[in-house]
Amino acid sequence: MELNGRILIVEDEESIRKFVKINLERDDFLVREAETGEKGLEIVQKEEIDLVVLDIMLPGIDGFEVCKRMREQFPRIGIIMLTAKSQDVDKIIGLEHGADDYMIKPFNPRELVLRIKSLLRRIEGPTIDDLNIITYGPFKMDAYSRRFYKNDKKIELTPTEFSIIKLFIENPGRAFNRDEVLNLVWGYDFIGDSKIVDVNIRRLRSKIEDQPSDPYYIETVWGLGYRWKGKE
Ligand code: CA
Repeated sequence: MELNGRILIVEDEESIRKFVKINLERDDFLVREAETGEKGLEIVQKEEIDLVVLDIMLPGIDGFEVCKRMREQFPRIGIIMLTAKSQDVDKIIGLEHGADDYMIKPFNPRELVLRIKSLLRRIEGPTIDDLNIITYGPFKMDAYSRRFYKNDKKIELTPTEFSIIKLFIENPGRAFNRDEVLNLVWGYDFIGDSKIVDVNIRRLRSKIEDQPSDPYYIETVWGLGYRWKGKE
């Protein structure tokens, strides 16, 4: 059996944990469970985990705090949050240490599996095409080691942010609409709303722009989407 990935589910409701686990194991994922955030943090310290499915409402420390602490220590870990309502998207994705994706309860387990697979593709190791180091203005992107620098200072990006910046930097001057970004970064089978793109762009701007409120590199193309500033 080839393992598709190592997933940790942090959720206090046993029924949800079990049903996510069954669906993931059917697809050859290794699944670990934690019923609290504290236990979840303990597991990511000790074991190799690729992606975390993280409930927001937990006894003890909540999902936001768990997400923040995991990201601080393991910037490249994939995080999908479970939320009871959709309005949380800004808070879930928008924070500096925010999640890559989210699912609203109740959800279809097959959709969660699709999103997990799509996020794992973003986290996946480099390909042979990624050997080049691309520089643009103050930025340097090393796709092989998946590192990103501004003025030689390393900027920590989540797997999703890295995938977006890679798409932009490899296509300077090209305008992408939100659905294109969704398809190219989240994957063709992604079913979701494009707000997740806007929230990720906002987070990226706060990390890479000199003045995030007046972005220079990631331009907004009104009525369409976004564009990485063309060559000067
Ligand atoms: Ca819960």
